[in-house]
Amino acid sequence: MKFLNWGTLLGLMIALLVPVRGATGDERIKGFTGPGSREERRAEAALMKLADPKVYEEHLRFLTKEPHIAGTKRNYELALYVRDKFKEFGLEDVELVEYQVLLSYPGDISVEMVEPVVYKATLREEGYPVDKDTSNSSVSIGFNAYSASGEVTAPLVYAHGGNPEDYDRLLEMGIDIKGKIALVRYSEPYSYRGFKALTAQRRGAAGLLIYSDPKEDGYVRGKVFPDGPWGPESHIQRGGIPFDFIVPGDPLTPGWASVPGARRLKPEESEILPKIMAVPLSYKDARPLLENLAGPAVPPEWQGGLPFAYHVGPGPAKVHLKVEMDNPVGSIWNVVGKIKGREEPEKWVVIGNHRDAWVYGAVDPSSGTSTMLGLAQNLGQLVKDGYRPKRSIVLCSWDAEEYTLTGSTEWAEQYADKLKKAGVAYINVDSAASGPHFEAVAMPSLGDFMLQITREVPDPATGRTIYEAMKQHRQGRNQKEEAGLIETRVGSGSDHTAFLNFVCMPVIGMAFDGPYGVYHSQYDDFYWMSHFGDPQFRYHATMATLWGVTTLRLANAQIYPFDYEAYAGEIGAYVKEIAGRGDKSIAPDLDFLTGRIKHFQEDARKLNRHIERLLSQGSPVSTEILQAINAALMQAERDFGSPGGIPKRPWFKHLIYACKFTYDPEVLPGLTEAVEEKAWPRAKEQIALLAKAVDRADRTLEEVLTKAPL
Ligand SMILES: [Zn+2]
Repeated sequence: MKFLNWGTLLGLMIALLVPVRGATGDERIKGFTGPGSREERRAEAALMKLADPKVYEEHLRFLTKEPHIAGTKRNYELALYVRDKFKEFGLEDVELVEYQVLLSYPGDISVEMVEPVVYKATLREEGYPVDKDTSNSSVSIGFNAYSASGEVTAPLVYAHGGNPEDYDRLLEMGIDIKGKIALVRYSEPYSYRGFKALTAQRRGAAGLLIYSDPKEDGYVRGKVFPDGPWGPESHIQRGGIPFDFIVPGDPLTPGWASVPGARRLKPEESEILPKIMAVPLSYKDARPLLENLAGPAVPPEWQGGLPFAYHVGPGPAKVHLKVEMDNPVGSIWNVVGKIKGREEPEKWVVIGNHRDAWVYGAVDPSSGTSTMLGLAQNLGQLVKDGYRPKRSIVLCSWDAEEYTLTGSTEWAEQYADKLKKAGVAYINVDSAASGPHFEAVAMPSLGDFMLQITREVPDPATGRTIYEAMKQHRQGRNQKEEAGLIETRVGSGSDHTAFLNFVCMPVIGMAFDGPYGVYHSQYDDFYWMSHFGDPQFRYHATMATLWGVTTLRLANAQIYPFDYEAYAGEIGAYVKEIAGRGDKSIAPDLDFLTGRIKHFQEDARKLNRHIERLLSQGSPVSTEILQAINAALMQAERDFGSPGGIPKRPWFKHLIYACKFTYDPEVLPGLTEAVEEKAWPRAKEQIALLAKAVDRADRTLEEVLTKAPL
């Protein structure tokens, strides 16, 4: 169970007290006065009426016609497509933004078992006549971007998920991975493949093969493509393996933008490029390798879905692995367009989605791209009809997300100073729709704000609200309701990362999930989407509504709906978790930190009450007071940042959130890592830094409370 989230619990309690309201409800919108709420809902209703599912289908068909990996001609053509559509829809300041970054493509790659029998892995996915896209000769072989190049012949060992505890278990069985090739599976438990590469490299493995076991995403789960949504035997999960949990973006320009003339590291100076060779395999190609492993039987939880007993090896299977990568510095293109705000054009609500895909990427990311195009069209139509949001909306189509979150990171690095002043929030949609289950992640300050939106947008399948559909789905999975409908611990793995961790802006991410076994394979294509993922494109349309409403509310709010009382409550809970794991020697420091957080929470509560009074009173509020409060609400999130960042990862400036090396969220990262490493003096330093950050945010709120009395 996820950690109990007080903000969400409060939201649920409120939800139980008031009847669910539809889009025409008269409940005040967070951050709006009564009249402001009515005006806002009129704009939202106009936006919702425009959402025609046909539009998303047409965009998706175009976006998924050909493979479009970052840095290729086709992905450039799609950049032009997005640019031209943005212009046609009436967006302003539309431009292509080019960066030159280190990319990585497959050259000559082969995986061949040479003993006890010869088997050469195909590294290819099979075609099916019902779907001509699966027989396109321009689809790449399976590869892991930024794999090292080289050649080795070594005995094979099966190492389950390739996580540190798996190699420890092997050592207990008397097997050292050093000098051997590790065969590991994806996603059990989920860890980012770059972490598997780093772990294998640290343990001295000679190479890494990562395969998709049918137990995770194949026939064990259900019908496989083209009869169902799960992965067929030859599907391959491609993907990057850079260590971008240390610093994302172009590996040669860590922390600064890859603009023309920028200083560049040599590849060997980068700390995020792997030194190990890695290749992804289908279960069709992995099967003969697994069948030729002897040695001890695997622990029961390591047994996968193939119909024989797995053994760990080493050998007799011996594998000849050869990898030649082609790693050029090449151009990538973001597309950026704006809808300028009528009152505060210098304040930006930034929304984004990446455009590059490993193959066709119907779900990842083209469902998000087609949704953003539909939303751009709808927002553009509102503008053509004479409407304009109060603040500017900046729409971004990112390139090379699949590499190192590259396009968004370079842009955020280039415009960091501007974004610190202008950036109200960043709202990311990567994969918009692979099924009917809504998932959202947001800062704790925006948890209730998001819940309110889910209570107003209808779920296309049931006609009830998204909120009701989420609750029902959680109950079906035996999760407690209060386990947090909105996830408020933010990790990495998509384009929100630079905005949260480098710029310290509040972020939100949204997706509709479902059975999806073809991630990063060629079967994530238009056929898959139109048969399994979202055949009627209703969830694309609904995502455009959710994304649009979220964006408009942030762009139009009289007072930003950032709830620091809930945020403080969560930070306090994180400290409590750490106190349970820490040494006695840091207990007084943690008590001190808890005291500072309580003080901050008290001031945040006062400010919340003050804002409630301002927004619920009948008379208009002066612009000066609104601006002072909004400036403070924006500043408080920045106050959680520290210019020096967290130990060993200075690019990660935010002191409350970072990602683990697996991409999972890590709260109070500097402190958590010090405690994990039992580095008590460093833990004390980190506690002091956190207390200072909380005090900064507290002072920001205090000052506005004294400046803007009722
Ligand atoms: Zn993606």
